Amino acid sequence: MTNLSDIEIANQVEMNPITDIAEKLGIPKESLALYGDYKAKINVSKLENLDKAKRGKLILVTAITPTPAGEGKTTTSVGLVDALTKIGKKAAIALREPSLGPVFGVKGGAAGGGYAQVVPMEDINLHFTGDFHAIGAANNLLAALLDNHIHQGNALGIDSRRITWKRVVDMNDRQLRHIVNGLQGRINGVPREDGYDITVASEIMAVLCLANNITDLKEKLKKIIVAYSFEGTPITAGDLKAEGAMTALLKEAIQPNIVQTLEHSPAFIHGGPFANIAHGCNSVLATKLALQYADYAVTEAGFGADLGAEKFIDIKCRLAELKPDAVVLVATIRALKMHGGMKKADLGTESVEAVLKGLPNLEKHLSNIQEVYGMPVVVAINKFPTDTDAELAAVEKACEERNVEVTLSDVWAKGSEGGIDLANKVIELAEKPNSFSHVYDLSDSIEEKLTKIVQRVYGGKGIELAPSARKELAELEKLGFTEYPICMAKTQYSFSDDATLLGAPKDFTVTIRNLKVSAGAGFIVALTGAVMTMPGLPKSPAAERIDVDAEGNISGLF
Ligand code: ADP
Ligand code: MG
Repeated sequence: MTNLSDIEIANQVEMNPITDIAEKLGIPKESLALYGDYKAKINVSKLENLDKAKRGKLILVTAITPTPAGEGKTTTSVGLVDALTKIGKKAAIALREPSLGPVFGVKGGAAGGGYAQVVPMEDINLHFTGDFHAIGAANNLLAALLDNHIHQGNALGIDSRRITWKRVVDMNDRQLRHIVNGLQGRINGVPREDGYDITVASEIMAVLCLANNITDLKEKLKKIIVAYSFEGTPITAGDLKAEGAMTALLKEAIQPNIVQTLEHSPAFIHGGPFANIAHGCNSVLATKLALQYADYAVTEAGFGADLGAEKFIDIKCRLAELKPDAVVLVATIRALKMHGGMKKADLGTESVEAVLKGLPNLEKHLSNIQEVYGMPVVVAINKFPTDTDAELAAVEKACEERNVEVTLSDVWAKGSEGGIDLANKVIELAEKPNSFSHVYDLSDSIEEKLTKIVQRVYGGKGIELAPSARKELAELEKLGFTEYPICMAKTQYSFSDDATLLGAPKDFTVTIRNLKVSAGAGFIVALTGAVMTMPGLPKSPAAERIDVDAEGNISGLF
């Protein structure tokens, strides 16, 4: 148990020099670019075999359908890697970089919690090594080139009413959601309606995370669609001759960052795409580094196992030719109670009945992982201070009855000590044969792919295409984007597209409202509702409580 805040716990730990951490893994010194004593970038072009070699076992950490507070995937992942290290294994973790928006809003940092964190947490949560700023710059360069092209005579015939590319900033700033720019006469540009997204929603973020090397990055950037012409032809970054300069801006950002956990396990923290309009996983390069240099590579996918794990498998693993060896499903008593019908305000009171009523949610995720994804799984119950023995025993019993491995993970309160059993179970599972499979084939039609996801993973009846989506589908098929995987943008709070349908709903239809192509990243985004790509700050933003003293020590980050 701890009464200390995350940053207070993090500050108590003496970090090891990052050169020691990299050396322990066997990463060549020449490939390290140091950012001070505790952070470095790894120049992957100086490494051999990154594409071919898979030495380690790939462990995916995912979760049941979450509550808005998050169920502790990052915390469990960090605790697991420390526990693996503790029992003598060579383990590394690959995670997403946090966005500044949530740090100053409600959610706080995203570097784990309690005694399972990555450090230096204040750097990781603030500017880190500047990757997000570089991505913002590359994104905005493309926007500037686009508007300049129109201003300079519009040789490509860009229809300014059909511009799909937005500028970005890494901040929750609702004021910028919808703007009008280019005002004040002909020397000041061409007036148009516009808007900003948050940097993590930029397609460049997804592109960077799926790129295998700098050449691949450039190729993918070139294909990004920024607008359509008056004839309806897509206008790409390549048409604007933008890809070279954009790649130059991203030359450092594409190199994965290495830091450490509180217990000095290596952590590759790199890239952070949205989990709705993008695939929600850290970079392919970071995962491959962890796999090449460690025997166990632990990684996390955003949201629950219906969304994050599905995209990890159908987008990231497919495009990067990766194959997981075991899955950890994080469950919490509070989320199960919520699925069992308990109100958010009551989640702190004991109710075995609500836990039992919530179990169908856990069971649906388990059968998806085992039967649809074909993977061995262990349930990690992430222990919260409010959980009671009777509630925990109810979940353990249910898993045992299903013949599924289950363990209590107490890494938030105890660090590696709280995750030893989980680590042992993961090691055992990763040796088992698996029948890893994708949910759909790339050769399926777009409608078939969507239907398979809804029926096989969500447990719904099928899909309904709204008139707008039907029109967009015809256009995507005409343009030849049928072989792309699907990136579902759906609420994370339900298997269905209705956030209020908790548990394991059945017989529902998922309405696809819009279909858009992210031609650079290489997937089709299926939107089931309005997705917020520029969040706002809450009434009492976390930023009001963050401070720094005369020595530069930061407080109030969590
Ligand atoms: P996710 O990755 O699933 O979004 P995180 O690991 O980031 O979740 O955890 C969300 C929040 O919950 C963090 O603030 C973390 O410190 C806190 N948290 C996670 N596990 C526990 C726990 N067992 N007890 C108390 N707080 C926890
Ligand atoms: Mg997380």
